Amino acid sequence: MSLTKLHAELEQCRRCPNMFGPVIHGPPVKTKVMLIGQAPGPHEHKVMKPFGWSAGKTMFRWFHEHVGWDEETFRARIYIAAVARCFPGKAKGGGDRKPDPTEMANCRPWLEREVKILKPELIIPVGTLAIEQVLGHKGPLVDVVGKSVEATYHGVTAEVLALPHPSGASTWHQTEPGKMLLQRAMKLLKAKLTCRFPG
Ligand code: SF4
Repeated sequence: MSLTKLHAELEQCRRCPNMFGPVIHGPPVKTKVMLIGQAPGPHEHKVMKPFGWSAGKTMFRWFHEHVGWDEETFRARIYIAAVARCFPGKAKGGGDRKPDPTEMANCRPWLEREVKILKPELIIPVGTLAIEQVLGHKGPLVDVVGKSVEATYHGVTAEVLALPHPSGASTWHQTEPGKMLLQRAMKLLKAKLTCRFPG
């Protein structure tokens, strides 16, 4: 099965009654590096790209400042997946609703199939939900951000470098010790990515 065929199936998915389409996915980049986000926000459908709005701008700025890649280069080199591919809607207290456990379970087979096709060697989970899926870690971000760990995910063993969610609603990466741990994580990513994609 190719990624293109998988995407055609994914676009038809309507498993979650409380999610809002359309399904958002990136291009079928054949790569050994996979980034896993949380879920699209309310604006991603306008550009039909994961991380296509404000959180994406912050995340791409991190990669531009630390790795020297612009957004286009990033999207051409890294496969972007997510814990959920549809917009979950707004939370009652404000901000975007997080996908619930049933929705994450509904969407997990798509991730599993992508992992089995790509067999990534480096996985970058972004935010607590993606980190929990990949590492099974439910504790604070300080335990995992800024460290390189090995994990087996859907049967594939890969190096994992976690990042905090770049959402404007989160202050974790803007205050200590998050700020310092983000710098450390990006330094590790720079070393890994420039080695994998020289020039
Ligand atoms: S979130 Fe995932 S499982 Fe749920 S409808 Fe969207 S693509 Fe399907």
